[in-house]
Amino acid sequence: MAHPKELLARLDANARKSLSQNFLTSPHWAETLTAAVMEGESAQAIWEIGPGLGALTQLLLKKAKVPVTLFEYDKKLSAFLREEYPGVDLIEGDVLKAPLEDLAKKSGKVAVLSNLPYHLSSPVFFKLVEIKPHLTRVVLTFQKEFAERLTAKVGQEAYGALSIIAQLHFKITNLGVLPPGAFYPPPAVASQAVILETQTPKDLDLDKLCKVIKAGFLHPRKKMVSNLKQIFPEVDWLKTLESNSLSPNTRAEEVHEQQWISLSLALKR
Ligand code: SAM
Repeated sequence: MAHPKELLARLDANARKSLSQNFLTSPHWAETLTAAVMEGESAQAIWEIGPGLGALTQLLLKKAKVPVTLFEYDKKLSAFLREEYPGVDLIEGDVLKAPLEDLAKKSGKVAVLSNLPYHLSSPVFFKLVEIKPHLTRVVLTFQKEFAERLTAKVGQEAYGALSIIAQLHFKITNLGVLPPGAFYPPPAVASQAVILETQTPKDLDLDKLCKVIKAGFLHPRKKMVSNLKQIFPEVDWLKTLESNSLSPNTRAEEVHEQQWISLSLALKR
């Protein structure tokens, strides 16, 4: 594939910062990421979010044995992709507004691939959590700092509500760090690719669990008990903490996964 700089010049376009347009230039990473999304439990469809100039798309379309759907916001890039790959299934517009659940119901189990537009890391991640029952695996490249928050363990600086929610929903494998030079234009910071494989722990009310985690981290510097009381005043939190061997002074960042599960059992709604 031609270099993004050359393709953009041909399209009379510039990389748009507002859309986090940093185009992959590394053939090694294009191979690694597309191979990762096609591995393992077989999905019935593959979605690519933000295909851009097609660095990953060209390999996906060549190698995938299932239908591929692209979600691209940029009009010029969408037109380019349609021309380059006639008949490609491309949904133009904001992926956050696309009816992902309905589409997934129609296509069967889906695997997702994206060199994410960084400003959408968090909303896209939570969209994917919402439609998790329809997913097999998700291969994403995030800003390194965001990926570290996803994978952090209790006691680490990056540990927070995002880490716990991500690790309960997905088995996360680190695929490696992509230096800024793997993209054109190079982003200001390094990126990290991860594989998220869906998992659902048995007998677990994930909805309640997410609620209690979010409440516990409401004001991360405050004692967790006052955060929990603010959102769920009907629960006797001091007693609940005590029965989980947690002191009244505990902060949310000190609480382990299993303790969050026990705390979620105290919720009545
Ligand atoms: N996949 C390409 C690559 O690896 O070279 C491009 C990656 S670039 C980091 C992010 C892409 O997401 C761009 O093509 C951008 O136009 C697209 N994008 C940005 N916001 C979007 C949105 N809300 N919905 C869909 N695509 C979006």
